[in-house]
Amino acid sequence: MTRAADEAIERAQRRPGGGKVVCASGISPSGPIHLGNLREILVPHLVAEEIRARGVPCEHILSWDDYDRLRKVPAGVPADFAEHVGRPLTAVPDPWGEFPSWAERFKAPFRDALCRLGIEVREISQTEMYRSGAYADGIARAIAAAPTIDGILGRYRTLQPSPTAAPAGSGPDGSGAGGSGSGGSGPGGRAGRGGRRGAAAPGGADDVPPADVDVAADEGAADDEGSASASAYFPFRPYCEVCGRDTTVVAFFDPVAGQGDYSCSACGNHGRFDVRGPANGKLVWKVDWPMRWAFENVAFEAGGVDHSSPGSSFTVGGSIVREVFGGEPPVYLPYSFVGVRGRAKLSGSAGGAPTPADALHILEPAIVRWIYARRRPNQAITVDFGAEVLRVYDEWDALNRRVGDGTAEPAEDTVVARSRGTVEGGPVDAPRTVFPFRLLSSICDITADDPTQILRILRQARGSDAPGESGADGTGQAPFTLDDLQPRLGCARAWTGEHVPAEQRTIVRTEPDRAALAGLSADETKALAILVDGLEEDWSLDGLTTLTYAVPKLLRGLPADAPATAELKQAQRAFFVLIYRLLVGRDTGPRLPTLLLAVGPERIRALLTAAE
Ligand SMILES: [Zn+2]
Repeated sequence: MTRAADEAIERAQRRPGGGKVVCASGISPSGPIHLGNLREILVPHLVAEEIRARGVPCEHILSWDDYDRLRKVPAGVPADFAEHVGRPLTAVPDPWGEFPSWAERFKAPFRDALCRLGIEVREISQTEMYRSGAYADGIARAIAAAPTIDGILGRYRTLQPSPTAAPAGSGPDGSGAGGSGSGGSGPGGRAGRGGRRGAAAPGGADDVPPADVDVAADEGAADDEGSASASAYFPFRPYCEVCGRDTTVVAFFDPVAGQGDYSCSACGNHGRFDVRGPANGKLVWKVDWPMRWAFENVAFEAGGVDHSSPGSSFTVGGSIVREVFGGEPPVYLPYSFVGVRGRAKLSGSAGGAPTPADALHILEPAIVRWIYARRRPNQAITVDFGAEVLRVYDEWDALNRRVGDGTAEPAEDTVVARSRGTVEGGPVDAPRTVFPFRLLSSICDITADDPTQILRILRQARGSDAPGESGADGTGQAPFTLDDLQPRLGCARAWTGEHVPAEQRTIVRTEPDRAALAGLSADETKALAILVDGLEEDWSLDGLTTLTYAVPKLLRGLPADAPATAELKQAQRAFFVLIYRLLVGRDTGPRLPTLLLAVGPERIRALLTAAE
């Protein structure tokens, strides 16, 4: 990141534009925008943050490739949407009638997620740019240089695609990350840009398949490089003015008038197009991308790992931007794939791979940023929605403690700072009072999400003399509210509800297990009495932890702080099982002190002692 920032600054300073560094991302809103696409945003974002942190002006642009054609109808969308294939994503209606267009349906949740992640971008709609005439000069240059472009494409076409171009994180069949789709012409088809297709690769047997994320991958090389002309190479493809599709072939073009004729294979229309002003059509992808590097003065951009290979859009684009548009390519970092493990409850109407919104449902914004920021772009990432979530939170909290007490490595300090917030936007939403995610999850489980209970237990968990998170007044009492626990509490609630299987949920008995109580040995009865008598000596997580471990020692006449022998450890385990059985009717459950705190002293007494 540091080196990319250095190079981007250096490149921007060589150009007109006052040295402002433009970092670019591009995403096609052709379907749910998933966690693989998020890397297309996060890599330039983190480079932009590095640049801003040095006080250098920097702008992050997000080009929405919303003037691309609809390529296929994903699963879950009414089949009659097939008639829209070939039309721009902004001209296709939202199948569920909630958004102005297909493109907007998929932009909206992604935009919300970016906002929660603290990522500011300047959005650029390619539909608006083409339709406004902004690209008229670029289109004219491309058409005038058609033979040059054809020659460049020909040079790369003769190069064989590298067999090592297959993404490291792709699925067992090699298509998990979206496949190449461009066949023998190399991996650089329109689908070749990692961020613009499914870069969410499965990483194991129980993974969620990235179904239908790859709506862009079926565009073949012919469509990509391909000439929209019946005779010579032609880099501009008009949309048919009758049926709105791009199923057009240019029959004739007059460079002086800037007008041409096309015929449409879908509806049979023969029409005229004009490229001097607002355009009703677009440049083919491999020309469109470098045209925009020059137009936006892009200094940094990232793309999927298979991009550095010969014949990829990036290498071809580099030649095209120099030879046709008089610019130079941006500093470029290839990024690897994003795998998903564990079952995510998906929010997208069309299903498929999990989206940033799905991740933010169970992970705090800073942790999502951290998952991306802690890896180099060329390393694969796995976002886990299962039991691993507990470990991720533990690791994040431990890292923050190290940063807090000054024992973290400098690189850790940097990654934590980048994760917690941005240079200009400040911190992202984070809990003001931090409890371990495991504890919150257990309490949501035990209390069945009762907010009053949750707050009571957490306040007691901290105990009376533990230092408070915000106890600057020296009293040690942190008067926190449920709001202070957000967004972590909401994440814990969602994760527990969606990821802890029903048979592992904790249900506290309402009535004592009288048969079990009647069958207790004398020692067991005595041990339970020691526990019940000691409960309120220190009603906190720490106090209850000490007590539960001490009971078997006290029973044997040993002091509470006697060292634990193997025999004592066994007795402790047996004692814990006994309590679990009497409280929740199973041999295991949440950590015992958490459970006791949640159940409360009166109810514990009622469940652990025979009725008198
Ligand atoms: Zn037509």
